[in-house]
Amino acid sequence: MFPTFTLRYARFPDRLRAECLPTPVEHPRLVAFNRPLAAELGFDLEAFEADHAAEVLAGNAVPEGADPVAMAYAGHQFGTFVPQLGDGRALLLGEVIDRQGRVRDLQLKGSGRTPFSRGGDGRAPLGPVLREYLISEAMHALGIPTTRALAAVTTGERVFRRIPEPGAVLTRVAASHLRVGTFQYFAARRDTEALRLLAEEAIERHYPALAGHEGGERYLGLLEAVVGRQAELVARWMGVGFIHGVMNTDNTAISGETIDYGPCAFMDAFDPRTVFSSIDERGRYAYVNQPVIAQWNLARFAETLLGLIDDDTERAIEQATPLIEGFTERFEAEWRGVMRAKLGLAVEAPGDGALAQGLLDAMQAGRADFTLAFRRLADVLEGPEDEARLAELFDDREALDAWLPRWRERLSRESVDATGLARRLRAANPAVIPRNHRVEQALAAAAEHDDFGPFEALLAALTRPFEEPAGEVDYMRPPRDGEKVLRTFCGT
Ligand code: AMP
Ligand code: MG
Ligand code: MG
Repeated sequence: MFPTFTLRYARFPDRLRAECLPTPVEHPRLVAFNRPLAAELGFDLEAFEADHAAEVLAGNAVPEGADPVAMAYAGHQFGTFVPQLGDGRALLLGEVIDRQGRVRDLQLKGSGRTPFSRGGDGRAPLGPVLREYLISEAMHALGIPTTRALAAVTTGERVFRRIPEPGAVLTRVAASHLRVGTFQYFAARRDTEALRLLAEEAIERHYPALAGHEGGERYLGLLEAVVGRQAELVARWMGVGFIHGVMNTDNTAISGETIDYGPCAFMDAFDPRTVFSSIDERGRYAYVNQPVIAQWNLARFAETLLGLIDDDTERAIEQATPLIEGFTERFEAEWRGVMRAKLGLAVEAPGDGALAQGLLDAMQAGRADFTLAFRRLADVLEGPEDEARLAELFDDREALDAWLPRWRERLSRESVDATGLARRLRAANPAVIPRNHRVEQALAAAAEHDDFGPFEALLAALTRPFEEPAGEVDYMRPPRDGEKVLRTFCGT
């Protein structure tokens, strides 16, 4: 049933990882399994057997050909360098080659203690496992690069956090688990050979276009490519109102995928200063700070590559610095592209940035719901009554009223009719995002009542985010006052 593993990371020298077996759990039960993803990864679904899958995905049995390892990494957490983090509650089973020929990592998260666990129990509670499942799959459906969720298994054991909770294991699929923090671990140990191995692995798996480049150019090319992917990623996040919440360097993937769904959340009412994470006391990772933080993380990545770029550190710094400085321009270009799409603009024109900012300012002034305000732009084109559906989202509509004629004037320069424009807008602006109050309801039903119905219904809506679902539960509606989730937790 499982695809064949091709071991890459497990074959790296010992100092890059620790061999480690998962710790068996009492009573594995498969509560979610992502069949379309499994098919993509080459699973034999005709031979699928839930009990066997549960055994393997809980870590009670190691699949044939896998060789589980915990990866070593370091990282800046909230700006402070921690020289050793590593997979403390995760194990890489190995890599598989998917149906499109891409190498993908299969990782168990919550599978027990490893040599990197420090004081932790190596376990994961069900709530955070389902949260990562829902939000990573939502991100994928929104078209944003992300790690994926293949399965969730409950363990039949309790884990103790603020309160005892059911334990679970998530199977995560990633283009790779190489992080900025993986490079930092070896840079801190002045281990140039390990850094070269990691850089080569990253190039082969994520940036094959660099194959023909040699010497320092090759690693400068890697840096530039990673800068480009992060600029695009963060712009895409912000285009759906996503706040990662823990943009530590160990949570910055070299592949450009979103990784580590801890206290992340989507904004309801638009406010650029929004922070949800209970541990982000100073708002370091607020919505609006995300580009600056990404750039800061990339500077930390650049530092790890200096020795590969040039033997002379000063010369290496001189070459790397413009690439890091260039992030700002690249991010802004990506962001303008994201906003143009959200406003239905296919051609580029001067003033588009200011036009987009005008709407955001109006939304902030009117405390309008970010997702619905964009979604209802399409309605405006369909008639005056429909315009009211947009306006009702704004507490104060003065700024909106001033903005709408500017937008209409700009749209007249697009060579498409109103129907085409409305279609374009609805394809760019999702109807459904994983709203915090819905996510919390789904998690509570599962963890407190063993009821996975709300989780499944929400997942189904999130998997088709550009369609307006017509079910019993209104997944599009923003939270009412009593439903608002103001704080999210890491759940580790
Ligand atoms: P995170 O906050 O998820 O990015 O994790 C930061 C570090 O803490 C990583 O090295 C994790 O492996 C480790 N960690 C988080 N939770 C646990 C746990 N329950 N047991 C052991 N290590 C953990
Ligand atoms: Mg992490
Ligand atoms: Mg985490």
